[in-house]
Amino acid sequence: MADSQSASSATETYHNYIDGAWVPADAGATFEVANPAAPSETVAVFPESDREDAAAAVEAAAAAAQGWADTPAPQRGAILQDASHILKHKKAELVETLVREEGKTRAEADGEVQRAIDIFAYYGQRARDFGGTTAQSSGTGTNLYTVREPLGVAALITPWNYPSAIPAWKLGPALATGNSVVFKPASAAPTIAAKLVEALDEAGLPDGVLNMVTGPGKTVGDEFMSNGLVDAVSFTGSSKVGEIVYETATEDGKRVQCEMGGKNPTVVTDSADLDRAVEIVGSGAFGVTGQACTACSRAIVDEAVYDEFVEGIVDYAESLEIGPGLEDPDMGPHVSEAELEGSLEYIDIAQTEGATLATGGEALTEGAYAEGHYIEPTVFTDVTSEMRIAQEEVFGPVLAVLPVSGFEEGLAVANDVEYGLSASIVTQNHTEANEFIDRIESGVAKVNEKTTGLELHVPFGGVKRSSTNTYREQGEDGMEFFTQTKTVYDNY
Ligand code: ADP
Repeated sequence: MADSQSASSATETYHNYIDGAWVPADAGATFEVANPAAPSETVAVFPESDREDAAAAVEAAAAAAQGWADTPAPQRGAILQDASHILKHKKAELVETLVREEGKTRAEADGEVQRAIDIFAYYGQRARDFGGTTAQSSGTGTNLYTVREPLGVAALITPWNYPSAIPAWKLGPALATGNSVVFKPASAAPTIAAKLVEALDEAGLPDGVLNMVTGPGKTVGDEFMSNGLVDAVSFTGSSKVGEIVYETATEDGKRVQCEMGGKNPTVVTDSADLDRAVEIVGSGAFGVTGQACTACSRAIVDEAVYDEFVEGIVDYAESLEIGPGLEDPDMGPHVSEAELEGSLEYIDIAQTEGATLATGGEALTEGAYAEGHYIEPTVFTDVTSEMRIAQEEVFGPVLAVLPVSGFEEGLAVANDVEYGLSASIVTQNHTEANEFIDRIESGVAKVNEKTTGLELHVPFGGVKRSSTNTYREQGEDGMEFFTQTKTVYDNY
């Protein structure tokens, strides 16, 4: 539970949540969470936990697992529904928290918090009706059916970029299906995650069913990955960390799901409505400051419309109002200095490789921008597919525009990366749209839509290096990951 240190600073101190109690890290260490728009402002203080804290959380979850699995699923669902109502009631405060710690705009934060509310409501309801199937037996007097059972203890590791929606889309199905949980939010944005946990606590989740421990991935995260009492791991984050997580966690046979990076293309064909194409690419590339695993980072544009598209997208980027998320501009700052540096490094690399900087390219450091991690929305043109700016995830508002000679080359370039998360095409040609859906190597394919933006009740996940390709998240698939099937032959 948060203790407000002083009303004026609005800095809150949080503890770990273990076995139903809010407790500091055993060794007493803490870390601060800064406001990306004003880094000297501390938003919250959290425990810098170590392995022992993480292990205590796992033990509490293991002890609570059977009781939770035995709780009738509609009762489990009712707690999620109540948590959803609590969050709805506190929505304005949650939006403010999310903006202050992550930096996104008020409108973006509003959408994300609403998503967390809706996800808890959705899985609260789904807890009533998830289940197995019945089949006709070859024997007489035999009932043949399947049941879905929880796995036991699920470890959830989440990133900072959607720090309420991603935890919600893991917590919802894990809890609805009867698993107990250990949860480590990203250190850059744990406050909104703690508020989700507070809501579940207030809604009456039994002690030990959910445990949250904050601190470094290398200790807390690694303990979750390697602890023998953990049965399943659901991770979202970078490909680099996800690959380590997968290797560590599968060593003793845990079920593992990792959703990781992307290098998402939007193909703009010669039949595209160009105003629409600019809006689709621009909002996909610069929304949430480009810090989405589904962000559009490659516009692959037919040379017949290339010049006109470039003119449009440069205008779009230059028209964006940048500022502190609380003032609800079009684009907020990067979440941290390190992320800003990451984008600037790729801007250097792209120029060295010979791409043309069409607009942006600089950190904003003057006047109102002096303190925050601000960067200009950036567009590179004349990019070719072998350049690093066309191959590697940047995780910032940096768009590469690649000219191509037609649909076939556009599709080939779209697939010419090691990632495959989300992809879109802007076209008025029905055949091309369907060819694209069939042949694009990605987990999400969209026509005349931006690469970002997901619905909560359908599966989400990637192919290639974007995912471990084990299970999908969200919707029914989210529940599949957290359950195993038992087949029953009941000869009466
Ligand atoms: P992001 O920058 O989006 O947070 P990362 O991939 O760096 O992406 O981290 C995602 C999550 O994984 C974070 O909660 C982070 O603390 C955690 N993490 C980092 N390293 C490890 C690790 N070795 N084992 C487990 N979790 C880790």
